Amino acid sequence: MAPLAPTRAEGREVADAVVAWWVSSAVRRERDRLAWRVRREPWRVLVSEVMLAQTQLGRVEAHFEPFLARFPSPSALASARLAEVLSCWSGLGYPRRAVALRRAASVLVDEHAGQVPCSYRELRALAGVGDYTARAVMAFAFDAPVMPVDTNVARVLARAVAGRPLGRGRSQEVADSLVDGARRGRRRAQAVMDLGATLCRPSPSCDRCPLAPASGRPACAWRAGGVGADPAEGTFGSSRRQSPFEGSDRQGRGRLLRAAAARPVAPAELAVAAGWPGDPARAERVARTLVADGLLEGQPEGGYRLPR
Ligand code: SF4
Repeated sequence: MAPLAPTRAEGREVADAVVAWWVSSAVRRERDRLAWRVRREPWRVLVSEVMLAQTQLGRVEAHFEPFLARFPSPSALASARLAEVLSCWSGLGYPRRAVALRRAASVLVDEHAGQVPCSYRELRALAGVGDYTARAVMAFAFDAPVMPVDTNVARVLARAVAGRPLGRGRSQEVADSLVDGARRGRRRAQAVMDLGATLCRPSPSCDRCPLAPASGRPACAWRAGGVGADPAEGTFGSSRRQSPFEGSDRQGRGRLLRAAAARPVAPAELAVAAGWPGDPARAERVARTLVADGLLEGQPEGGYRLPR
């Protein structure tokens, strides 16, 4: 069985093999057309990572450039009305992210001269920027030698490098071994992420993988060990599945926000605005979750509106 954590040399070997495949692959050519890869200004990278955190790539592609056209800089977003920000975010889901991004933009204006910082500490201090997003901005915008661990990367690390399921902390340790000693990190992070997004899927295409045992390169630890249980199962973050949107509270939240962006929603209109005309109790409950998230505020006479 593979050791619990690879040595630094083993991690680097795997990263080098993946990069060697990636630089001339069709996968890279295709994915380098994504708008946030064509131009990698830190603000664009930050916005893309916040969007991609909980929204499928296709929907982000449709919304990314229109959002950036309206909010091309932190100062443009920081000075915009919340109703307009939410309107531009509509269709991406989880609008809390839009509110947090606007708060982060204000901090960028007030404390960083309107620029996105490159240090982990300063990025993490921004609203809505967690460990993954901070590392992704450092790697993709600033080419720093860090490896952000998303769903796709976690799957590759567990299968190809460790050969066993990995908890959150161990995943990051293994990820760090892939950039250990590197001066720049973007290519490594992008290559491993693209491998996970295209070939090392939940149902992997090992026959086309640069780490397949027959490839002559450093081999995938899982496949080299036979056909045991998939290490991606039980690995932190590698098997999250989104519950269906249709009929969900998320759908009702989106409808309520769109209605409130147009005008305050009166108590008698709430259930229809949420899309549940026969279930006013559910509409009320969901509206209160929006209030708790700072996305709506109750009115003295009843009903809800966007925060002033
Ligand atoms: S050989 Fe298969 S399981 Fe291993 S990294 Fe490649 S695609 Fe993933």
